[in-house]
Amino acid sequence: MSSTSTAFQLHSSVTSFVSTTRKMLIGKDWVESVSGKSFPVYDPATGELLATVTEGDKEDINRAVKAAREAFDSGPWSKMTASERGRLIWRLADLLEKHTEEFAQLESLDNGKPLAVARAADVPLAVDLFRYMAGWATKIEGTTIPISVPYTPGAEYLAYTKREPVGVVGQIIPWNFPLLMAVWKLGPALATGCTVVLKPAEQTPLTALLLGELILEAGFPAGVVNIVPGYGETAGAALAAHPDVDKVAFTGSTEVGKLIVQAAAGNLKKVTLELGGKSPNIVLNDADVELAIQGAANAIFFNHGQCCAAGSRLYAHQNVYDKVVEGVATIADKIRVGAGLDPSTEMGPLVSEEQLRRVCGYIESGKGDGAKAVAGGERLGDKGYFVKPTILTDVKQNMKVVQEEIFGPVVTAMPFKDVEEIIPVANDTVYGLAAGIWTSDLSKAHKIASHLRAGTVWINCYNIFDAALPFGGYKQSGWGREMGRDALDLYTEVKSVCIRL
Ligand code: NAP
Ligand code: MG
Repeated sequence: MSSTSTAFQLHSSVTSFVSTTRKMLIGKDWVESVSGKSFPVYDPATGELLATVTEGDKEDINRAVKAAREAFDSGPWSKMTASERGRLIWRLADLLEKHTEEFAQLESLDNGKPLAVARAADVPLAVDLFRYMAGWATKIEGTTIPISVPYTPGAEYLAYTKREPVGVVGQIIPWNFPLLMAVWKLGPALATGCTVVLKPAEQTPLTALLLGELILEAGFPAGVVNIVPGYGETAGAALAAHPDVDKVAFTGSTEVGKLIVQAAAGNLKKVTLELGGKSPNIVLNDADVELAIQGAANAIFFNHGQCCAAGSRLYAHQNVYDKVVEGVATIADKIRVGAGLDPSTEMGPLVSEEQLRRVCGYIESGKGDGAKAVAGGERLGDKGYFVKPTILTDVKQNMKVVQEEIFGPVVTAMPFKDVEEIIPVANDTVYGLAAGIWTSDLSKAHKIASHLRAGTVWINCYNIFDAALPFGGYKQSGWGREMGRDALDLYTEVKSVCIRL
């Protein structure tokens, strides 16, 4: 394992960013919490204090919602043309791109992910999403509808629909892709003309706060985006329950997703949810086995398995099972695990001590149920939150490690005999976020894809995300979609206008 984060020469603006207590963004000002309290943020590679952040609570959410409400109801934002909105979002994308290195370093420090990954994936995907959504701002259209009202014979009407912004949106995001999750949520909200109160995860609030600085620099009017770091049980719950919030968009655990739905019931605010997954990755006997092995390893080990779409259940046809498991195990054993800022690191630490305990707890539970770790199967070192890339074999479908989301670098592997047998097994969890199929028979792949109850099916690839491609879950993996045109619909209300001519 490599050395700690501190050996790396950080960009001076990153060093200065983490050296003072970070404030929250309300209106156009950086302010302290009403309570005056702050909370610690840790470096997951060392477990040491990384930064201190002001702790938002109910009072701060109230202030932020008020600012967002004013900006939506009567501020300059409410009068801005779609083209002006689009240009602001584009400018924000340009600024983010210009500061790629700072964002990548800060993300790596805060979340633990390899710097190279943050540079190549997290930041560019965020930039691209903003550009994609900037283009949509001028293309949010209604329709004209021919109506023929039977009880007003002879009358003529002009009827049309408009798509209007849903209003003030509360956005609550997790720690696995802190910047990207913020951007996935902000992009469609801003393109449609909503205003936002964003609550980042307590473990990883830093890049969202840095983004707040660029939002002001880009010229967004006061109150359009407010960023309130704090804990889920306090700030998050207050936001989800707030009577002046029109919609809440949440990404995180299915358990908390259910609490969000309950909290939203008070004023029946709109709710979209992007929740957990336990995605099956199916290797058929006619697959390009080398490709499938690489793909299966990437499906689970990318971002240390801390992906809601992680391919955490590997099912391989019995003819190729041994080869696939051996191949993935060989990759797992070679992955260089270390601090995110170490250039040789391929996999970083888990995000927190809590996740470390959780993931190790699952590994022990699997072993207790009779599973065998053919790679990894334990913590790595005793400093930082590192876990070895792990493959569990000899598992049964009803085991906890096969049914529940582990959210770490742990994949279960099971053989199967024929395709018909594997489809119901693949569908047999409460989740339905994603799935993978590896085969050289595309006709078969299309058929299997149509039977999988999942929001995304990857064929001969995995973890392919694009701003234009909707992403979201079936079953308990969520409500609604992020990205693509579908995301925009969920940030608008449809208004029917009917004129008697
Ligand atoms: P989580 O508890 O669901 O947290 C997600 C967000 O919701 C965080 O900002 C969290 O605040 C906030 N939150 C927590 N309780 C809340 C409440 N009662 N009301 C409103 N907001 C609340 O997820 P986690 O604890 O970070 O991770 C646990 C599990 O969530 C993972 O193991 C995984 O299963 C799932 N997860 C899924 C995704 C995904 O992309 N689908 C991403 C991350 C995690 P805090 O900042 O205080 O935590
Ligand atoms: Mg939490």
